[in-house]
Amino acid sequence: MTLDQYAVLGNPVAHSRSPFIHAQFAQQTGQALTYGRLLCSMDGFAAAVREFAAAGGRGCNVTVPFKFEAPTLARRCSERALLAGAANVLRFDAEGWYADNTDGAGLVHDIEQGAGRPLAGHRVLLVGAGGAGAGVLGPLLQASPAEVVVANRTAERALALVERHAALAAEKGVALRASDLAAPGQAFDVVLNATASSLQGHASPVPDEVLQPGTLAVDLMYGPAAEPFLAWARSHGAVARDGLGMLVEQAAEAFALWRGVHPQTAPVLQALRAEMAAGR
Ligand code: NAP
Repeated sequence: MTLDQYAVLGNPVAHSRSPFIHAQFAQQTGQALTYGRLLCSMDGFAAAVREFAAAGGRGCNVTVPFKFEAPTLARRCSERALLAGAANVLRFDAEGWYADNTDGAGLVHDIEQGAGRPLAGHRVLLVGAGGAGAGVLGPLLQASPAEVVVANRTAERALALVERHAALAAEKGVALRASDLAAPGQAFDVVLNATASSLQGHASPVPDEVLQPGTLAVDLMYGPAAEPFLAWARSHGAVARDGLGMLVEQAAEAFALWRGVHPQTAPVLQALRAEMAAGR
């Protein structure tokens, strides 16, 4: 029997924990599938996806830097992928490929259920307006916080993201605005680092006053790269959380889209943390 094939495509992709996570989901739910990694050249993403689908692939995850290109390959997009202009999941349906973006649902689930912090009525600072920032803003607004400030190094990108989400923010009664990194505001309830600044060794792209004691500070990054941001947050009395919970939650949403069954995430997050603690 040929097993259904899935993969994560990106550049780089060697570090990806998705194969481990999906293998755990498959085992837990009794689904027969394989899940690998495919490194794409910078101009070779579309060709690599088509080749994978032609060779029997059933769907894929998409990671940096191809999330903005992914929806262009699909015939149909979910509403959240359309709003984000970016997708992290493709499903190769016979009647035309389907693109979705599960990053935001994964993050919101991890904040509300994983960290136990409901977003409704709270003030949120989203730092970053790249693929991750674009993917999470819509689902964040859907959770009805009081305010969301989007701060980005390139201010025009934050502004463009805010403009695209203005109607949804108005519908949900959320005060939404764009900012530069230097003065996004003070004392937020939740601060989300959706930038790649941790990769460059910076602790925080925003000033200390965005935190107050008890702020939930999440770096979407995980592993050693996230440590400087998490240490910065803790040193100001914030509750620090890395991006592993979001990673597992967004994967569970993708798995459900492909297989029609939603796996349990808590045991997989625990197993993943144990893997990483053991240096694997
Ligand atoms: P991306 O599309 O390349 O965007 C990078 C973002 O980081 C942009 O907003 C960019 O600002 C900003 N940035 C880069 N260097 C910076 C610096 N030195 N100071 C301040 N801002 C800087 O990447 P992405 O897809 O959004 O991913 C961002 C991070 O989220 C990555 O670390 C990724 O691993 C993580 N992520 C995690 C998950 C998860 O499941 N945990 C899911 C998705 C992404 P400009 O616009 O000014 O260039």
